[in-house]
Amino acid sequence: MIVAKKKPLEEIIETLKGYDRILILGCNECVTVCEAGGKKEVAVLASALRMYFMNQGREVKIDEVTLERQCDHEYLEEVRKNIDQYDTVLSLACGVGVQFMAEKYMATPVLPGVDTCFMGVTEERGVWTERCQGCGQCILAWTAGICPVSRCAKRLFNGPCGGSTKGKCEIHKELACGWQIIIDRLNELGRIEDYERLMPIKDWSTERAGGPRKVVREDVRS
Ligand code: SF4
Ligand code: SF4
Repeated sequence: MIVAKKKPLEEIIETLKGYDRILILGCNECVTVCEAGGKKEVAVLASALRMYFMNQGREVKIDEVTLERQCDHEYLEEVRKNIDQYDTVLSLACGVGVQFMAEKYMATPVLPGVDTCFMGVTEERGVWTERCQGCGQCILAWTAGICPVSRCAKRLFNGPCGGSTKGKCEIHKELACGWQIIIDRLNELGRIEDYERLMPIKDWSTERAGGPRKVVREDVRS
């Protein structure tokens, strides 16, 4: 899933300056799972903002809607009939949803209410860690299912840098060395020969470094 975290309330208030009719728009997908932008977070933020504006003596209309997804035309259409009622939309979706909403409703400012962080997993409630950077050419088959792009701070492809201490990364000392995990798992799987396999120089053009990307699948196009 895409992992995001709530923006500080002060930052949100700053971006809302000058708007009197605000729609807070949540998303039922990833941001609900990581407890940053689902229905519950929309309600909590709406209460905090109402309280803030009341204390400021300002009358501000704040409505709450949570869509199934904000990365799909179909669901974004659900707000079309009411969009003119608002000066702005504060979207609690990930950056993808915020942008798709902004592209769809060109005349309405769409503001982000969360900071989008990475694609990752829930380690335990309240703890999320990164697993994939969408590099466009997956090599997990050769790395015991552990991603060196997202789990090695230096994104090394042919073994560790030699800087790890007690299994921890020398850059992010609180995180495990990605290559240590890869080697441990290769050993467990009895596939340490994969470690000897020399990875070719990666073509980073399939990754973000190559610019914005697009996937077209003729087999699923209607
Ligand atoms: S190798 Fe690339 S696609 Fe595969 S998990 Fe890592 S970043 Fe994601
Ligand atoms: S210590 Fe491990 S994870 Fe950190 S940069 Fe070096 S090889 Fe990569």
